[in-house]
Amino acid sequence: MSQAYAFEVVYPSEKKIVTSNDYAFIYGKANSAESLSINDKSIYTASNGAFAHTVKLHEGENRVALRTLYGLTIYKYYKTIPVTQEIPIEEFSPVKAYVNHDNVPLRTTPVDAGLNRISHLFGGTHIVINGSKGSFYRVYLAKDKTAWIAKKDVTLTDEGFYPAEFINMDSERFKNAMIQTISFSKKLPYTIEDGEKEIIFRVYNPELSEESVYNLNIPKPEKYAYTVTLEEGKYTFKVRKLTENIKEATVVIDAGHGGSEKGAIGCLGDEEKDINLKIALQTAEFLRKHNINTVLTRECDANVSLDDRVNFSKENGADVFVSIHLNSIGDVPMDIHKTRGTSVYYYNENSKKFAEVMQKEITRIAGTRDSGIKTGSFAVIRPTEYAAVLVETAYMTNPQDSMLYRNDKWIKKAAKGIAEGIVDYIKK
Ligand SMILES: [Zn+2]
Repeated sequence: MSQAYAFEVVYPSEKKIVTSNDYAFIYGKANSAESLSINDKSIYTASNGAFAHTVKLHEGENRVALRTLYGLTIYKYYKTIPVTQEIPIEEFSPVKAYVNHDNVPLRTTPVDAGLNRISHLFGGTHIVINGSKGSFYRVYLAKDKTAWIAKKDVTLTDEGFYPAEFINMDSERFKNAMIQTISFSKKLPYTIEDGEKEIIFRVYNPELSEESVYNLNIPKPEKYAYTVTLEEGKYTFKVRKLTENIKEATVVIDAGHGGSEKGAIGCLGDEEKDINLKIALQTAEFLRKHNINTVLTRECDANVSLDDRVNFSKENGADVFVSIHLNSIGDVPMDIHKTRGTSVYYYNENSKKFAEVMQKEITRIAGTRDSGIKTGSFAVIRPTEYAAVLVETAYMTNPQDSMLYRNDKWIKKAAKGIAEGIVDYIKK
């Protein structure tokens, strides 16, 4: 920090910005002894110097002036009006297509975001397409039942229509799991519905008739996980009860980001990846002290891909999975001083209870503001093979939270909160 400018802006990194956002978010560090103002409004600065503020932008040029006794810096935002164009659905006669690789999401809407995934199709699945919108095709499943799939994930063919032959169906009950299988002469699309009392797997054979839907219902225990596998036309749907014996459980702890992926940058320039790792290592230490089988997706500052994190968890037979992060806000209209504390995210219904227990334990033990549980479509928590949550322990961009995450005692408390959340969820 130079003497002449007694503040340093961490975000934004440029002084001239073209944006279509309605708000500009600005944060960094200032000398807490000098009063900082932004557009003549006095700004709260934490005792460590952290500050954050949002400014509402109007159309055209906006000047945002940061001023202290010794310094003045002006940011210029040029706000453009976003062009939104509704693309119509193009209807066409049914065409045959193949899913061209594994793990392709089938969605309820033609949007690559949110909680709209209804299943993940296997490479080679035969589908029928009868419409298109933007970068998505509409998939015909049965009468009054369609879904959406990304165009890049399918290959159209001009082959004739021939329905899959149903071969057989079977079910098996084990002590802690129930398995149902169904076989066809070729790979068909399926959907999964997590109902009130059961999980419903539906396999569609649209080339046979509009009524050809095979339902497999498996009652679900209170704490459960499920898998879908496919081998030579045989689908295996398995719903298992999660262990309540802590000594039998496998816990995966995932420190978010790492290596060149820094994650969010805090008001004082701290990198999220480093704080995630500190909390993750201490969480593992707590769990191992209680003889709980715990594995980490990274134990040092390294790049680990999202796929590798997921595959690692599956290979290790995870029962529960916790991804550790710290939150940040973007150019959105949020009250900076209320946007702090802990939020726990889940994606699948089977992880909701885990999120609730985790939220309660972290806020109780780490003393953070309770910002509630939320749903979020993060790749690491989408698998259904285990209960999975993503924990945003505090906000990197909140001045008050920066007092927490820079304090080793708080790091320890956050880790203890996460460990207690895991133990509580498994045992209860
Ligand atoms: Zn993160």
